[in-house]
Amino acid sequence: MKKTAQRFFIVILCCLFSFCIATAQGIENKTLLSEAPDKELETILSESNVDIYNVLGLSRQELLTSVRAFIKYVEDYGFCPRYAIEETDLFAQQVYTAIKNYYSKTGFPTKNDPNAYFLTDSELFSTPENVNNFRCYAYALNRTVNTYVGQFSGTALTQTQINSMTISQIADRVVQDLNSSTLKYDCAYTLSTIPSVASMKTGQTLICVRKGSGFFGADYHFMRRVGSNWLHKPGQSSILRYKYTPSNSLDWTNEGVVNGVPTAPNAIYSGNIIYIVFSKHHYGLAYTGYSYHSGNKHYYEYSGTCTSCGQYYSSYYVVKACSGPPCPSTDPVLRIDPTCAE
Ligand SMILES: [Zn+2]
Ligand SMILES: [Zn+2]
Repeated sequence: MKKTAQRFFIVILCCLFSFCIATAQGIENKTLLSEAPDKELETILSESNVDIYNVLGLSRQELLTSVRAFIKYVEDYGFCPRYAIEETDLFAQQVYTAIKNYYSKTGFPTKNDPNAYFLTDSELFSTPENVNNFRCYAYALNRTVNTYVGQFSGTALTQTQINSMTISQIADRVVQDLNSSTLKYDCAYTLSTIPSVASMKTGQTLICVRKGSGFFGADYHFMRRVGSNWLHKPGQSSILRYKYTPSNSLDWTNEGVVNGVPTAPNAIYSGNIIYIVFSKHHYGLAYTGYSYHSGNKHYYEYSGTCTSCGQYYSSYYVVKACSGPPCPSTDPVLRIDPTCAE
């Protein structure tokens, strides 16, 4: 009886000892990465091959502060915020990998209450199947693949370029992207005030862009007018419908809906808004009266200075599908059906 009691006591002691070790390990693993001292944070980042020197135009200390704020957001929401700027987007994903590595054994802290945030300026509009594959610029251009400002007219703008560029310079790069041989839009031009729905011609698209700032420096965001709605896609969020008409006097944020959960903003856009109009052909060119048929298409010649975008053409062709001959030889843009010029 006495021996049994002794054995029992030893077993209890062993259990207590193991429990203490487990608890100590648990506490150690539960240290939030966002609260790690600078040196430790640097070590953890470098172990996951994150370059924290000479990136994004930030000093070491600025970068650590930014990274810490980014990590805190990831700890709260458990997903990697995605960026409109390619360089920053890639960097954010590297940091996210380091965070995942850090929490690989314990799992994310998941402090966030899914009901903690309510969208204020927008509402959920739709969630496309490939919602993670594209962001605000792609959505503005009606694309569903990764798209960065500048990539079609040279190379994607870097974080330091965006930091120093005015919104007009960024909008001009968008116009160059639109005119590129990849996107093949025409009649793209910028406006500082919003054109009315009634002033828009059939086939024209209206988007707008605005500069702001996020964790890693300057940022930009796009919206697109669809009918009377202003739709937009902040980062990897679902598509949102903005409740208002864009205005310089009302800031935008990147609040969103990710995996069905409303997420608080981590970027704010308060600069002046630039509006960009574009379409598949010019609206303000004079038809020369010359046209010809080739294959299953008909080619209509235009010339002059476009009264919409200001570009000059000695010879510009609008191409339409055509089953002729016989063919319609009148102006397809102004006199037939402006919607079918592609
Ligand atoms: Zn034009
Ligand atoms: Zn024809």
